[in-house]
Amino acid sequence: MAAMRLATIRTDGTTSAVRLEGDEAVQLDAPDVGAVLHWDRWRDRAVATGGRRIPADDLDYAPLVTRPDKILCVGLNYRNHILEMGRELPPYPTLFAKYRSALIGAFDELVLPAVSENVDWEAELAVVVGAPVRNATAEEAAAAIAGYSVINDVTLRDWQNRTMQWLQGKTFEATSPLGPALVTTDEPGVATAAFDLSCTVDGERMQDASTSDLLFGPVDLVAYISTIVTLEPGDVIATGTPGGVGHARKPPRYLRDGSDMVTTIAGIGECHNRCRAESPAK
Ligand code: MG
Repeated sequence: MAAMRLATIRTDGTTSAVRLEGDEAVQLDAPDVGAVLHWDRWRDRAVATGGRRIPADDLDYAPLVTRPDKILCVGLNYRNHILEMGRELPPYPTLFAKYRSALIGAFDELVLPAVSENVDWEAELAVVVGAPVRNATAEEAAAAIAGYSVINDVTLRDWQNRTMQWLQGKTFEATSPLGPALVTTDEPGVATAAFDLSCTVDGERMQDASTSDLLFGPVDLVAYISTIVTLEPGDVIATGTPGGVGHARKPPRYLRDGSDMVTTIAGIGECHNRCRAESPAK
Protein backbone atom coordinates (compact mmCIF):
# COMPACT_ATOMS: atom_id res chain seq x y z
CA MET A 1 0.00 0.00 0.00
CA ALA A 2 1.30 3.46 -0.87
CA ALA A 3 1.79 6.03 1.88
CA MET A 4 -1.33 7.99 2.80
CA ARG A 5 -1.61 11.56 4.04
CA LEU A 6 -4.15 12.11 6.80
CA ALA A 7 -4.95 15.40 8.50
CA THR A 8 -7.36 16.98 10.96
CA ILE A 9 -9.26 20.05 9.85
CA ARG A 10 -11.65 22.52 11.45
CA THR A 11 -15.03 22.44 9.78
CA ASP A 12 -18.64 23.21 10.71
CA GLY A 13 -17.66 24.36 14.20
CA THR A 14 -15.88 21.11 15.02
CA THR A 15 -12.99 19.06 13.67
CA SER A 16 -12.81 16.18 11.22
CA ALA A 17 -10.20 13.78 9.94
CA VAL A 18 -9.51 13.90 6.22
CA ARG A 19 -7.49 11.95 3.69
CA LEU A 20 -5.48 14.24 1.42
CA GLU A 21 -5.61 13.34 -2.28
CA GLY A 22 -3.87 15.77 -4.61
CA ASP A 23 -5.69 19.09 -4.44
CA GLU A 24 -8.62 17.65 -2.48
CA ALA A 25 -9.37 16.34 0.98
CA VAL A 26 -11.84 13.53 1.55
CA GLN A 27 -13.67 13.76 4.84
CA LEU A 28 -13.45 10.68 7.07
CA ASP A 29 -15.97 9.66 9.72
CA ALA A 30 -13.78 10.60 12.68
CA PRO A 31 -13.20 13.80 14.65
CA ASP A 32 -9.42 13.68 14.21
CA VAL A 33 -6.52 11.54 13.04
CA GLY A 34 -6.16 10.13 16.55
CA ALA A 35 -9.66 8.65 16.28
CA VAL A 36 -8.83 7.14 12.87
CA LEU A 37 -5.79 5.43 14.39
CA HIS A 38 -8.12 3.75 16.91
CA TRP A 39 -10.13 2.11 14.12
CA ASP A 40 -9.72 -1.62 13.53
CA ARG A 41 -7.55 -2.05 10.41
CA TRP A 42 -7.35 1.73 10.15
CA ARG A 43 -5.09 1.75 7.08
CA ASP A 44 -7.55 -0.24 4.96
CA ARG A 45 -10.53 1.74 6.18
CA ALA A 46 -8.91 5.16 5.87
CA VAL A 47 -7.90 4.54 2.26
CA ALA A 48 -11.24 3.03 1.20
CA THR A 49 -13.87 5.20 2.89
CA GLY A 50 -14.77 8.88 2.81
CA GLY A 51 -17.54 11.38 2.27
CA ARG A 52 -17.48 15.04 1.33
CA ARG A 53 -14.63 16.32 -0.84
CA ILE A 54 -13.13 19.70 0.02
CA PRO A 55 -10.61 21.71 -2.04
CA ALA A 56 -7.24 21.46 -0.27
CA ASP A 57 -6.73 25.24 -0.56
CA ASP A 58 -9.73 25.82 1.70
CA LEU A 59 -8.55 23.64 4.59
CA ASP A 60 -8.16 25.05 8.10
CA TYR A 61 -5.76 22.63 9.78
CA ALA A 62 -6.26 21.74 13.44
CA PRO A 63 -3.51 20.04 15.46
CA LEU A 64 -2.92 16.68 13.71
CA VAL A 65 -4.06 14.78 16.81
CA THR A 66 -6.35 16.92 18.92
CA ARG A 67 -6.49 14.74 22.05
CA PRO A 68 -3.41 12.51 22.21
CA ASP A 69 -3.22 10.40 25.35
CA LYS A 70 0.47 11.27 25.59
CA ILE A 71 3.03 13.59 24.02
CA LEU A 72 6.55 12.41 24.83
CA CYS A 73 9.50 14.62 23.95
CA VAL A 74 13.21 13.86 23.71
CA GLY A 75 15.99 16.27 24.62
CA LEU A 76 19.58 16.15 23.30
CA ASN A 77 19.12 13.63 20.50
CA TYR A 78 21.18 14.91 17.52
CA ARG A 79 24.80 13.72 17.63
CA ASN A 80 26.28 16.89 16.11
CA HIS A 81 24.37 19.10 18.49
CA ILE A 82 25.39 17.06 21.57
CA LEU A 83 29.05 17.04 20.52
CA GLU A 84 29.08 20.75 19.61
CA MET A 85 27.72 21.46 23.08
CA GLY A 86 30.77 19.64 24.48
CA ARG A 87 28.69 16.85 25.98
CA GLU A 88 29.17 13.10 25.90
CA LEU A 89 26.68 11.00 23.98
CA PRO A 90 24.15 9.95 26.63
CA PRO A 91 23.36 6.26 27.29
CA TYR A 92 19.61 6.92 27.59
CA PRO A 93 17.23 9.38 25.94
CA THR A 94 16.25 12.43 28.01
CA LEU A 95 12.46 12.23 28.18
CA PHE A 96 9.95 14.87 29.15
CA ALA A 97 6.29 15.49 28.41
CA LYS A 98 4.03 18.08 26.87
CA TYR A 99 0.27 18.35 27.45
CA ARG A 100 -2.16 18.32 24.55
CA SER A 101 -3.31 21.88 25.35
CA ALA A 102 0.11 22.98 24.07
CA LEU A 103 -0.76 22.00 20.50
CA ILE A 104 -1.81 24.33 17.67
CA GLY A 105 -2.48 23.74 13.97
CA ALA A 106 0.22 23.79 11.31
CA PHE A 107 -0.67 27.28 10.07
CA ASP A 108 -2.11 28.82 13.24
CA GLU A 109 -0.89 32.08 14.66
CA LEU A 110 1.67 31.50 17.43
CA VAL A 111 0.81 33.82 20.30
CA LEU A 112 3.98 34.53 22.28
CA PRO A 113 3.17 34.41 26.02
CA ALA A 114 3.59 37.85 27.57
CA VAL A 115 5.41 36.34 30.59
CA SER A 116 8.45 35.30 28.49
CA GLU A 117 11.17 37.19 26.62
CA ASN A 118 12.84 34.00 25.37
CA VAL A 119 10.47 32.04 23.15
CA ASP A 120 12.58 29.75 20.96
CA TRP A 121 12.12 27.31 18.05
CA GLU A 122 12.85 23.56 17.96
CA ALA A 123 12.11 21.83 14.64
CA GLU A 124 11.44 18.12 15.22
CA LEU A 125 10.30 14.95 13.52
CA ALA A 126 7.06 13.77 15.17
CA VAL A 127 6.43 10.03 15.38
CA VAL A 128 2.75 9.12 15.58
CA VAL A 129 1.81 5.79 17.13
CA GLY A 130 -0.70 3.61 15.27
CA ALA A 131 -1.22 0.60 17.55
CA PRO A 132 -1.07 -0.16 21.28
CA VAL A 133 2.39 -1.39 22.13
CA ARG A 134 4.15 -2.41 25.36
CA ASN A 135 7.62 -3.87 25.88
CA ALA A 136 8.16 -3.77 22.13
CA THR A 137 11.00 -5.44 20.26
CA ALA A 138 12.50 -3.36 17.45
CA GLU A 139 10.28 -5.16 14.97
CA GLU A 140 7.15 -4.57 17.05
CA ALA A 141 8.13 -0.94 17.56
CA ALA A 142 8.51 -0.37 13.80
CA ALA A 143 5.12 -1.98 13.18
CA ALA A 144 3.48 0.26 15.81
CA ILE A 145 4.54 3.49 14.05
CA ALA A 146 1.61 4.91 12.05
CA GLY A 147 3.81 7.50 10.40
CA TYR A 148 5.47 10.87 10.71
CA SER A 149 4.59 14.50 10.94
CA VAL A 150 6.18 17.85 11.81
CA ILE A 151 6.24 19.40 15.26
CA ASN A 152 7.93 22.51 16.58
CA ASP A 153 8.69 22.02 20.28
CA VAL A 154 8.50 25.77 20.89
CA THR A 155 10.22 26.45 24.20
CA LEU A 156 10.22 29.33 26.67
CA ARG A 157 13.92 29.21 27.65
CA ASP A 158 13.56 31.47 30.68
CA TRP A 159 10.83 29.20 32.02
CA GLN A 160 12.59 25.99 30.96
CA ASN A 161 15.69 26.97 32.91
CA ARG A 162 13.94 28.04 36.11
CA THR A 163 14.50 24.55 37.53
CA MET A 164 16.22 21.27 36.68
CA GLN A 165 12.95 19.94 35.24
CA TRP A 166 11.94 21.53 31.92
CA LEU A 167 8.18 20.95 31.92
CA GLN A 168 7.09 24.52 32.64
CA GLY A 169 9.02 25.86 29.65
CA LYS A 170 7.81 23.14 27.29
CA THR A 171 4.06 23.01 27.63
CA PHE A 172 2.75 26.56 27.54
CA GLU A 173 -0.76 26.56 26.19
CA ALA A 174 -1.17 26.80 22.40
CA THR A 175 2.51 27.11 21.49
CA SER A 176 3.50 23.91 19.59
CA PRO A 177 2.42 23.47 15.96
CA LEU A 178 1.80 19.81 14.97
CA GLY A 179 0.95 18.84 11.38
CA PRO A 180 -0.19 19.52 8.80
CA ALA A 181 -0.43 15.82 7.88
CA LEU A 182 0.44 12.33 9.04
CA VAL A 183 2.46 10.59 6.33
CA THR A 184 1.97 6.88 6.90
CA THR A 185 4.84 4.41 6.93
CA ASP A 186 3.20 1.69 4.83
CA GLU A 187 5.97 1.61 2.27
CA PRO A 188 8.90 -0.66 3.16
CA GLY A 189 11.79 1.23 4.68
CA VAL A 190 9.90 4.39 5.52
CA ALA A 191 9.92 3.52 9.23
CA THR A 192 13.70 3.82 9.20
CA ALA A 193 14.17 6.42 6.43
CA ALA A 194 16.20 9.62 6.92
CA PHE A 195 14.56 13.01 6.41
CA ASP A 196 16.01 16.50 6.05
CA LEU A 197 14.52 18.94 8.52
CA SER A 198 14.90 22.68 8.89
CA CYS A 199 13.56 25.73 10.66
CA THR A 200 13.63 29.17 9.11
CA VAL A 201 12.73 32.38 10.92
CA ASP A 202 11.97 35.45 8.79
CA GLY A 203 13.47 33.60 5.84
CA GLU A 204 16.78 32.88 7.59
CA ARG A 205 17.64 29.20 7.89
CA MET A 206 18.32 28.57 11.57
CA GLN A 207 18.29 24.76 11.73
CA ASP A 208 19.27 22.32 9.01
CA ALA A 209 19.88 18.63 9.72
CA SER A 210 19.07 15.07 8.76
CA THR A 211 17.19 12.66 11.00
CA SER A 212 20.00 10.19 10.19
CA ASP A 213 21.93 12.12 12.88
CA LEU A 214 19.44 11.09 15.58
CA LEU A 215 21.15 9.21 18.39
CA PHE A 216 17.89 7.47 19.34
CA GLY A 217 15.76 6.95 16.22
CA PRO A 218 11.99 6.44 16.01
CA VAL A 219 12.13 2.68 16.45
CA ASP A 220 14.55 2.94 19.43
CA LEU A 221 12.29 5.52 21.07
CA VAL A 222 9.07 3.54 20.63
CA ALA A 223 10.75 0.42 22.04
CA TYR A 224 12.29 2.32 24.96
CA ILE A 225 9.17 4.29 25.93
CA SER A 226 7.00 1.18 25.59
CA THR A 227 9.07 -0.40 28.34
CA ILE A 228 7.81 2.35 30.65
CA VAL A 229 4.23 2.72 29.51
CA THR A 230 1.83 1.39 26.88
CA LEU A 231 1.96 3.63 23.84
CA GLU A 232 -1.54 4.16 22.44
CA PRO A 233 -2.81 5.02 18.95
CA GLY A 234 -2.49 8.76 18.44
CA ASP A 235 0.34 9.20 20.92
CA VAL A 236 3.03 11.56 19.66
CA ILE A 237 6.79 11.40 20.18
CA ALA A 238 8.73 14.61 19.46
CA THR A 239 12.14 13.15 18.66
CA GLY A 240 14.38 16.09 19.58
CA THR A 241 15.89 19.06 17.80
CA PRO A 242 19.25 19.64 16.07
CA GLY A 243 21.65 22.56 16.58
CA GLY A 244 20.71 26.08 15.59
CA VAL A 245 18.19 27.02 18.26
CA GLY A 246 18.00 30.73 19.05
CA HIS A 247 19.14 30.37 22.65
CA ALA A 248 22.53 28.93 21.58
CA ARG A 249 23.23 31.72 19.07
CA LYS A 250 25.64 34.53 19.79
CA PRO A 251 23.95 36.83 20.45
CA PRO A 252 20.84 34.81 21.32
CA ARG A 253 17.80 35.15 19.06
CA TYR A 254 14.18 34.64 20.01
CA LEU A 255 10.78 34.80 18.37
CA ARG A 256 9.28 38.28 18.28
CA ASP A 257 5.98 39.91 17.41
CA GLY A 258 5.65 39.44 13.64
CA SER A 259 8.28 36.66 13.33
CA ASP A 260 7.58 34.16 10.59
CA MET A 261 8.52 30.59 11.62
CA VAL A 262 8.62 27.80 9.03
CA THR A 263 9.32 24.23 10.14
CA THR A 264 9.96 21.81 7.28
CA ILE A 265 10.64 18.10 6.93
CA ALA A 266 11.29 17.09 3.33
CA GLY A 267 8.72 14.56 2.14
CA ILE A 268 6.63 14.97 5.29
CA GLY A 269 5.37 18.53 5.40
CA GLU A 270 5.71 22.08 6.59
CA CYS A 271 4.27 24.16 9.43
CA HIS A 272 4.15 27.91 8.86
CA ASN A 273 3.33 30.04 11.88
CA ARG A 274 3.23 33.80 12.20
CA CYS A 275 4.08 35.01 15.71
CA ARG A 276 2.14 37.65 17.59
CA ALA A 277 2.88 39.12 21.00
CA GLU A 278 0.17 38.34 23.53
CA SER A 279 -1.64 41.40 24.84
CA PRO A 280 -0.30 41.81 28.39
CA ALA A 281 -3.63 42.81 29.92
CA LYS A 282 -5.86 39.86 30.72
MG1 MG B 1 12.63 19.65 21.80
